[in-house]
Amino acid sequence: MATDVLTGPTILGTATRTKAYKNLIDGEWVESSTGETFENRNPADTRDVVGIFQKSGPADVEAAVEAAKHAFKKWRLVPAPRRAEIVYRAAEILQGSKEEFARDMTREMGKVLDETRGDVQEAVDTAYYMAGEGRRMFGPTTPSELPNKFAMAIRQPLGVCGLITPWNFPMAIPSWKLLPAIVCGNTCVIKPAQDTPLSTFNLVRTLVDAGLPKGVINIVTGFGPEVGGPLSEHPDVKAVSLTGSSAVGRIVGQTAAKRFKHCSLELGGKNPMIVLDDANLDLAIEGGLWGGFGTTGQRCTATSRIIVQKGVYGEFIERYVERARALKVGNGMDEETQMGPAVNENQLATDLRYVDIGKAEGARLKCGGNRLTSGDYAHGFFMEPTVFADVDPKMRIAQEEIFGPVVSIIPCEDLEDAIEIANNIEYGLSSSLYTKDVNKAFSAMRDLEAGITYINAPTIGAEVHLPFGGVKSTGNGHREGGVGAIDFFSQWKAVYVDYSDTLQRAQIDRGE
Ligand code: NAD
Repeated sequence: MATDVLTGPTILGTATRTKAYKNLIDGEWVESSTGETFENRNPADTRDVVGIFQKSGPADVEAAVEAAKHAFKKWRLVPAPRRAEIVYRAAEILQGSKEEFARDMTREMGKVLDETRGDVQEAVDTAYYMAGEGRRMFGPTTPSELPNKFAMAIRQPLGVCGLITPWNFPMAIPSWKLLPAIVCGNTCVIKPAQDTPLSTFNLVRTLVDAGLPKGVINIVTGFGPEVGGPLSEHPDVKAVSLTGSSAVGRIVGQTAAKRFKHCSLELGGKNPMIVLDDANLDLAIEGGLWGGFGTTGQRCTATSRIIVQKGVYGEFIERYVERARALKVGNGMDEETQMGPAVNENQLATDLRYVDIGKAEGARLKCGGNRLTSGDYAHGFFMEPTVFADVDPKMRIAQEEIFGPVVSIIPCEDLEDAIEIANNIEYGLSSSLYTKDVNKAFSAMRDLEAGITYINAPTIGAEVHLPFGGVKSTGNGHREGGVGAIDFFSQWKAVYVDYSDTLQRAQIDRGE
């Protein structure tokens, strides 16, 4: 599955042995048909090569889909509780490897160890939950309108599923897709983000170690157009599940629509947190820091807009900015670090570009805005936690997803005004309200246009047994997590058994 190859120079300036990872196709660890590879580098220190991965092409996708199609013939017939037992075993293995996998993840994408441990834990939680689903997958058994006739609906698998994932939750998000897909009896080809193939590789390897038969999951690493494109286009891929940007979602959605595939799109966000005058301000500041700068602001649910009522606006800004300035930025491997680097150079450039945009739009830069380059920062993609105040809701920094540690604070008059600002946006993933007034809380729960609303908590922190997903340009209406995932990865079949020994015509033979 992985072999050592010589690479260099490294941190020490000498050649070192780096692991080279292969694709998994039909139970075999194989090199890509292109003969090319790419490096996975540590964004906290780009001299550190985390691994060498296959730069695959359409022929690898073809082979993987063929393997999955073949494996589906047997896998669909394995009883769901037996399929789920393998997923349960995977949960146990993952639990045992949590620290190792968290460290791999911090090294490949930069978020701090506490968070990467949480990412692995989310895969563990999903595995236990989906293992339980193997004994549920309930469908309705319901009375027939005719005598001596039995009616029920059963869930059936779809076939080969193409799964395309982003880099910010490189084990949790693949687990949200892979685990319900296989428990439902599908087979899969997964293409992880090019910045984080190792964490997905660790999940796939765990499932293999847990006893998954060959061909049921296949991993093909590489880039979007060369691997993700052919995977979403392939006629034998019956369902496509993508988590990523709205721009890529639009492409994948259109491709899938041409062949009427099941298609789940979980896309961008620009999530508001509303702080009313009666809020517990200490709690709101704490939450706003965690929501805004956790994962370096690189969460689809990141608290990127904080809408504050005028009575506490000044105090909130002062205290929030002071705390943001004090956040310890550094290598996520250091337990003291509170915010890691941007995932790559492009993302850092985007973050810095939005700082310029915010300044040009006339927002007040209260702290941050600069790349960090001195000392230990010199070889990574670090920037300061950045806060803009007096942001107009129409400004680009308040409307567009930045996906970095840049928070916009927007003043508001009252709850009604805050909800209007919150909703007046293209996206609708997460939202939050800080208040002690239960009436206001319930109004916001009803009126915020988002797939998720938190009361007295920031916009991040989903639990795996609840529906996850958004409205408007955040997606196409599907939900991950909980039973929604089972809904996506299965299709209903209505079954009627007539034991009357006569022809009974529905809607016609009513015995009247
Ligand atoms: P991205 O859209 O650039 O890439 C996502 C995946 O799509 C990657 O694996 C990429 O290689 C692949 N891809 C790129 N072009 C493709 C193409 N033409 N055809 C098929 N596949 C293609 O996103 P990213 O930078 O990896 O992740 C960040 C984005 O993901 C943000 O917009 C964020 O909000 C979103 N996100 C959403 C959720 C959610 O559940 N709503 C969760 C996490 C991240």
